[in-house]
Amino acid sequence: MRILIVSDIHANLTALRAVVVHAGPVDAVWNLGDTVGYGPRPRECVELMMQLGADPSLMGNHDLACIGELSLQEFNDVARYAAEWTVAELGDEHRSYLGSLPTTTSIGDVTLAHASPREPVWEYVDCVPVATANFRHFQSTTCLVGHTHRAMIATLEPEQQEASIAPLRDGDAVQLEGARFLINPGSVGQPRNRDPRAAFGIMDTDERTFTAHRAAYDVTETQRQMEAAGLPDLLVARLSIGM
Ligand code: ZN
Repeated sequence: MRILIVSDIHANLTALRAVVVHAGPVDAVWNLGDTVGYGPRPRECVELMMQLGADPSLMGNHDLACIGELSLQEFNDVARYAAEWTVAELGDEHRSYLGSLPTTTSIGDVTLAHASPREPVWEYVDCVPVATANFRHFQSTTCLVGHTHRAMIATLEPEQQEASIAPLRDGDAVQLEGARFLINPGSVGQPRNRDPRAAFGIMDTDERTFTAHRAAYDVTETQRQMEAAGLPDLLVARLSIGM
């Protein structure tokens, strides 16, 4: 099976469409959550996930906030403003879809969590100690997470006590054997490692590989939509630099 792995779409429909085209034919779509929040097209992104039959599809912290199940006080000012805007945009069908999603699940030999297997909604897996600790919180060979918006791989070799971490760049391929892996494909809609292109992953369960990808998209189109929606300038500007 060739599987498209997306995360942190954040209502950036232009980026999501570019990813779907760039990925080409796939047998399944797995979504690691935060489909909405920050971006200008929350309804359309939820609808595209439904059309593509994304399964598993997870709920992230922004999704929780945008369906009213997480206090907006947990967010900084710009994220809160965008979440309030999103709450008003979503219809009942979008809310009930997002509300039906788990924050963590497993399929085959893969665990999926929005943030981390230890703390599925909030934890940032962005350093060796946190990555190492999280290997004790899943049993499978591979765990896929999102949330940090940075494509990276943590590897725990057999007999090793401590994981190693490396960023994932466009075209990096990993053989998912001989060790255990915690992988973040990066963010479709708001990448944060100074590469503005939309990040995603392709997992091949027959070849047991994960490949990191980047899809260029029309950033200015998304920015134009954000400005028209009155979303905060800070959120608009960061898309240009990928931070
Ligand atoms: Zn996010």
